[in-house]
This record gives sequence, structure tokens and C-alpha cells, in this order.
Amino acid sequence: MSDCIFCKIARGEIPSKKVYEDEHVFAFHDINPIAPVHFLMIPKAHVPSLYECEAGHEPALGRMLALAGRLAREQGATDGFRTIINTGRVGRQEVYHVHLHIIGGPDVLPGMLKR
Ligand code: 5GP
Ligand code: ZN
Repeated sequence: MSDCIFCKIARGEIPSKKVYEDEHVFAFHDINPIAPVHFLMIPKAHVPSLYECEAGHEPALGRMLALAGRLAREQGATDGFRTIINTGRVGRQEVYHVHLHIIGGPDVLPGMLKR
């Protein structure tokens, strides 16, 4: 998708603070971090949300989870972190290119959702 902001970041057309890149995925720091460690990992191929994911996306989606711990530790989240994928209106997804948030830092994060 030529006008997708995260596709442009993955192609280097919009600058970002890169964390990691390989043939399937691209990781970069969130522009508006909510914790000392907050970066995003995306499939390089455009897919709007988890609703559109299918078997062909498994290599990228699997790579994202398989790399999360290593990259989180390298970024300083050495005692735990949280992974989030927001999907659609109810999930309050803002950017419609699948992205895994990796959020952590020295302090314990707030509870996940209010009951
Ligand atoms: P969502 O709410 O869709 O799960 O999260 C989108 C995330 O993308 C937000 O945390 C937001 O700060 C981040 N973001 C939006 N635009 C940009 C950008 O141009 N560059 C970077 N690095 N992050 C962005
Ligand atoms: Zn995209």
C-alpha cells in the first residue's frame, strides 16, 4: 500500500528509529512512547489488521513473536514487558497496518484493563 504510513516507514521513505529489520519484519520506536521501552514490530508486507491475516502471513507474524523477547531485552526491558495488537474500532486501532506494541521498562505497568 503506497500511502500507508507504516509501509513508508518499512521502506525508509519516512524516517524512524529502527530497532530491527529482516526480510519479513521491521521494528521501530513508537513516536509517542507510553513507557521507557515502547517499540512496534510490523510485517513488511501490508496487511491492515489481524482480521485480514491468513496463512500467508504466518512467517512474518511468527517472526514478530519469536523476536519480541530478544528485542525487548536488547532495548532494556529485562524484567518483563507487554505485547499488544490493537484491532479495529473496538480495539482502538489507529494505524491500519498490523503492528505489535512491545512495552516495558523498569517499572511495573498498570493493570491491563479496568474491570
Ligand atoms: P494503534 O493505536 O494503532 O495500536 O497504535 C499506533 C501507534 O503508532 C501509536 O502508539 C502511535 O504513537 C504510533 N505512530 C503513529 N504514527 C507514527 C509514526 O509516524 N512513527 C512512529 N514511529 N510511530 C507512529
Ligand atoms: Zn502498510
